[in-house]
Amino acid sequence: MITGKTKLLGVIGYPVEHSLSPVMHNAAIEAINSENSDGKPQPKIDYVYLPFPIKPEDLKVAISGFAAMDVRGFNLTIPHKQAIMPLLSEVSAVARSVGAVNTVFRTENGWGGTNTDVVGFLAPLRNYNFNWREKVAVILGNGGAARAVVAGCAQLGCAEIHVFGRSEDKLNAFQKSWLDSDKPVSVRVHTWSEISSFISRADLLVNTTPVGMSPLVDVSPVDDAVMEKLSPGAIVYDLIYVPNPTEFLRQAATRGAIALDGLEMLVQQGAAALQLWLQQPVPVDVMRQSLRQVLGLEEG
Ligand code: NAP
Repeated sequence: MITGKTKLLGVIGYPVEHSLSPVMHNAAIEAINSENSDGKPQPKIDYVYLPFPIKPEDLKVAISGFAAMDVRGFNLTIPHKQAIMPLLSEVSAVARSVGAVNTVFRTENGWGGTNTDVVGFLAPLRNYNFNWREKVAVILGNGGAARAVVAGCAQLGCAEIHVFGRSEDKLNAFQKSWLDSDKPVSVRVHTWSEISSFISRADLLVNTTPVGMSPLVDVSPVDDAVMEKLSPGAIVYDLIYVPNPTEFLRQAATRGAIALDGLEMLVQQGAAALQLWLQQPVPVDVMRQSLRQVLGLEEG
């Protein structure tokens, strides 16, 4: 129930209509406020999570308004993840290395920003008892999500991180940005034509391109003949969550590799943000289930 004391959380983007965050955050808030299955009441929280369509040119005035309205925190999606950074009084080390903020919280001096995509990306990988220091990560794409993936692979301590892209200029700029950062990361960059000779060395193969999602469903970023060279022990991770599975993950399963989709990353980045705002544990299962339901996926 919305009351006179309800506190605001939300997501800003332009457009924002496609965002699944309101579904999962409000499901979590409702679950925290409902009784446990054993009938034990939990401490109540009085929050609501709303979508805010904010045009790029209105970002500064919007976040001043949010401060005046005592908004407690918000997520950001396209096109605000980089543009918000100069408007914050503090930016976490992880957000600085990724070069993007997806979660903003109140501080004594204004707004602080962090990036929970890295923790979200890493969460499903923590289930595998790999000695990451011996492992080779191969990342397809060099856009925004690839930055969170590189930061995650660096946190795991991967022995080698290879990034594949279409444009040599963008690849070189991508590589340079990691060398120039506070905590430099050694990233090797390659054009797509080199993937065939690399794939057999991949222990972790991550798709960060939109190839495989609408309108490119039924397409994989990697040809069948190239995927056949993949080691069956590899982890193949597609950041896409619809369709589920993607063609890329179908190829991986055929090869006997471990296939991970992007839904858990989405859930875990949201859970990490909500936990930061509420400063208490959050019902991750409820968040996951609410997304599966809205996406029309079978009960998980
Ligand atoms: P982005 O910044 O636009 O980057 C996309 C990257 O893919 C760029 O490097 C782009 O190359 C490359 N690319 C695009 N089309 C391609 C094609 N046809 N063939 C080869 N490469 C292509 O987008 P993003 O924000 O990183 O998002 C990428 C994907 O990750 C999306 O599918 C998104 O839904 C998903 N994602 C999932 C989560 C999650 O929580 N699961 C979180 C973030 C993102 P150029 O630079 O050469 O154009």
